[in-house]
Amino acid sequence: MTETVNYAYFIYKTCPVDYDVLEWRNQMKILVSACLLGFPCRYDGKRCPSEAVIRLAEQHILIPVCPEQSGGLPTPRIPSEIREDRVINREGKDVTGAFRTGALIALETAKLNRIDTAVLKSKSPSCGCGMIYDGSFRGILTEGDGVCASLLKQNGISVYDESQTERLYHAGEK
Ligand code: SF4
Repeated sequence: MTETVNYAYFIYKTCPVDYDVLEWRNQMKILVSACLLGFPCRYDGKRCPSEAVIRLAEQHILIPVCPEQSGGLPTPRIPSEIREDRVINREGKDVTGAFRTGALIALETAKLNRIDTAVLKSKSPSCGCGMIYDGSFRGILTEGDGVCASLLKQNGISVYDESQTERLYHAGEK
């Protein structure tokens, strides 16, 4: 089992950023699914880095979060999917509470860092944006957002699916 790390708090504590300097450099702070940066926090403990998202770090400051780890779930963990308003793992256990806790921590991290933009992992029951698995564990996608993506959107944060990353390459330029 890998250690659970709250990446965003770590970065917030160790890398305070002067917002005037950010504006001067045309940089943004962007909340990012930690797995897209190569952290081995996926349900199966494997890495799934996205070159497009990592490239964003050349221009912007990326703040990684993993809502499922922050919510207290182990890595590796049993995969989960959303059924109506609950999150159920493949063994039938209701893990909604952990998902909601992790989403709240991601939202608090965004607020602490004055972040209004996020790039999240597609199809995930936490991070998915627009399309997620339908709760049948048969690989079927349906329209919807993961728990964290939904909470961020409700709080005014612009959430991008990882496939939309290129839209942010030049964001912040005047
Ligand atoms: S998709 Fe979200 S919850 Fe799942 S491993 Fe990546 S950062 Fe964590």
